[in-house]
Amino acid sequence: MSLKLFSHTAGGADTAKPSKADQTLQSKVIIDGLDDGVILIDNQFTIQLINPSASKLCGWKTDEATGINVDSVVQLVNSKNEKLDASQNPLHQIFSTGNPMTNNDLMLLTRDNQSIPIRLHLTPLINSNQQVYQAVAVLNNVSEERSNEKQRADFISTASHEMRTPVAAIEGYLALALNDKVSTIDSRARGYLEKAHASTQHLGQLFQDLLTSAKAEDGRLTSHPAVVEINEFLNQIISDLRLVAAKKNLEVDYVFGDTNQSVINATKEGSQKIITPLYYAYVDPDRLREVITNLFDNAVKYTPEGKITIGLTGNDQVVQCFIRDTGAGIPKEDLPHLFQKFYRVDNSATRTIGGTGLGLFICRKIIELYNGRIWVESELGKGSTFFINLPRLTTEKANALQTQTKAGSVTSIN
Ligand code: ADP
Repeated sequence: MSLKLFSHTAGGADTAKPSKADQTLQSKVIIDGLDDGVILIDNQFTIQLINPSASKLCGWKTDEATGINVDSVVQLVNSKNEKLDASQNPLHQIFSTGNPMTNNDLMLLTRDNQSIPIRLHLTPLINSNQQVYQAVAVLNNVSEERSNEKQRADFISTASHEMRTPVAAIEGYLALALNDKVSTIDSRARGYLEKAHASTQHLGQLFQDLLTSAKAEDGRLTSHPAVVEINEFLNQIISDLRLVAAKKNLEVDYVFGDTNQSVINATKEGSQKIITPLYYAYVDPDRLREVITNLFDNAVKYTPEGKITIGLTGNDQVVQCFIRDTGAGIPKEDLPHLFQKFYRVDNSATRTIGGTGLGLFICRKIIELYNGRIWVESELGKGSTFFINLPRLTTEKANALQTQTKAGSVTSIN
């Protein structure tokens, strides 16, 4: 397509500056030529403009789609193929929030009923009264990206799964070689074998973490949620955790309730009755143990001396666990990246300590499975506190769920 963009003035000479009409035409040529789908929506959710890429993606012709409601053309669905209602739909939310937003995990239902994974970026256009009068939606088909990610994750999980078996065999034979009752070796050989044994254990852990993180990324992490009373749960695992800390002579404290008191008991005035709050959550206890153990092992690993405190508190909505140490701390600039895959802080305090950089990534993925949140607060040289928030179940809801579980009929906790 060739377009003449610069019109002639009355005098017949070309001007350097394009007219308003030329500028509009210029913008249209650019927008129509983009690979990204672009849609302009007004505050009545009517499509004012749709470029050929967006119309092809949605399966509507541009002239058919222009002037009709965006929900008919851009049908957004969740992973279960259920249509998003207005409160969940970013194409609606943008007009109330007024903030640009990007969504990477949406599905688009095309006119011929195909579900396509898309990335949606929305930019509000705000008038002088601070009202959003229009919004620009940019849509990208990310099917190929997702398929590449899946292939990569499949390769990692197959490779790490296959490699775990020979590594376990090597570790077993090295353990036999180091066992006095089975083998006779001199002290120099023992030194070498001990190093080989430690490295093999590290390799085995790396394969295990790779496998778990690949599964976490493509949603294949197994989870069998149940009603868990978190105080009881922490009391069950704390003796194992104390054993780990004892190897480094680290003290371990358990703080229940308010952080300044070891136990908060709600007492009725005049009554001797002690009420201890029950902090119920709906999680897989094995997965939660994995998270707490990981955070605790890190606290031990990165704390040369001092104390580790495990805490439990909460309010009506959330159950909050925390693990606080008096260790190396984490530099401010590393904090935003800590829960990313393979991220390790590189400084003199941590360089000599082995690790994979996958532990916190796996923790985040597990906590997100239960609609929870994990974050860290830290001061370099003073220590770190890792927090986990999980949605709290009321005692009534927890009892009802437990009854349903016994009857084998839990479908959803909402
Ligand atoms: P790693 O296997 O390296 O420990 P993680 O994902 O568990 O991997 O942790 C990522 C990085 O975060 C670590 O390499 C370390 O630098 C930092 N980190 C984690 N926990 C702590 C902690 N309690 N104190 C100081 N640094 C920590």
